Amino acid sequence: MPSTVYFGSAHQAKLVAEETLPAKLDLILEQLHLRDRVKGELVVLKMHTGSNIGYSTIHPVFIRKVVQAIKDGGGEPMVADIDWDVQHSYARGYSPEVLGCPIFPIAGPSDKYYYAHKHPYKGIEDWKLGGLIQDATFLVNFSHAKGHPTCGYGGAVKNLALGCMSGPTRSAMHDTMHYDQYWFPAKCPDAAVRQQIIDSCPFGAIVQDKRQADGLHLHIEGCNQCGRCLKVAPAGSLKIDPVNFHTFQEACAISTSISMGTFAKEKATHICLATFMTPVCDCFGFTSMPILPDVGIFGSDDIVALDQAVLDAIGKHPLIEENIPTSMEVHTRQGHPLSWLHGPLKDPYKVTEYCEALGLGTRQYELVDVLPVEGFTRTEVTYISAS
Ligand code: SF4
Repeated sequence: MPSTVYFGSAHQAKLVAEETLPAKLDLILEQLHLRDRVKGELVVLKMHTGSNIGYSTIHPVFIRKVVQAIKDGGGEPMVADIDWDVQHSYARGYSPEVLGCPIFPIAGPSDKYYYAHKHPYKGIEDWKLGGLIQDATFLVNFSHAKGHPTCGYGGAVKNLALGCMSGPTRSAMHDTMHYDQYWFPAKCPDAAVRQQIIDSCPFGAIVQDKRQADGLHLHIEGCNQCGRCLKVAPAGSLKIDPVNFHTFQEACAISTSISMGTFAKEKATHICLATFMTPVCDCFGFTSMPILPDVGIFGSDDIVALDQAVLDAIGKHPLIEENIPTSMEVHTRQGHPLSWLHGPLKDPYKVTEYCEALGLGTRQYELVDVLPVEGFTRTEVTYISAS
């Protein structure tokens, strides 16, 4: 059975506040019955507070609305994010005074307050889940949609998968991409040829392995799978293989299942703001120009349906190619537009497939527009009086 995803479009007919995205967020919160569900709950609002001088994370106007709805319903809200982003979040407009509730590092100020969850996966034994997530009794997962250099897309799943774990687990999740062997040194004993392979990559994505003299290391984040290196590498020495690229998305699905597993099914809801979608994630500490048009805001109790709906909606638009940094390239126009930029093996839908397989939700959804734009009607523009 399909899940319901509520949607507020970025489009509006009239120049009135009621048709803008914060007002549509209110309608989505009503549809999700957030106020009715949080009485007496300790509610963790997981968002990405960004870092450094980034300004495309979720505007405090949206967060404050959710915080207020939680308070209205008798819940106790707290915003949480990873320690180093929370530390200076006030510089980007996120303070308790503005948001209306405390802002905490997810695993405490020293990143050491976590609960270990055993789930062996490609070098990871224990997943260190932030203590604030496990201690909370209700989850509001409020994510920002954007591109991502490791997996093509960052949205609702990514917000929990990386953002709820302590630093060592986040690091180990990235390391899983190197678990399956892709470099076979016996097939390339010549150091000069190894240097040619390194030189063939215009993105510096393949480098000398610091721990192994005859080793090469692939920075998967920087690789768009153009195949230039494969033309230089001796047969069998190098693989640009789906398993290394998809592993991170499977790790994200496992991590999300651990986070969500600490909440009863009806004690979690998910919102995603699909505006100002940049090529890479909000961790980078800056905001580059959007590469996709603004789509709107989405909400659902089903995290899988939510990310699927967001991906489908943004996938209807081609990339705004003039906004792509010139150090990146579009070398294919097949599949989702985010794959045009990050490469076909960074298929953004993989994470929804893995999450569905783990029983976190369904990719089948019904989209309900909370305020459809009814055709085109001319209306008077009501100017704000100077007095
Ligand atoms: S496939 Fe292309 S981007 Fe990836 S390492 Fe090889 S040359 Fe670099």
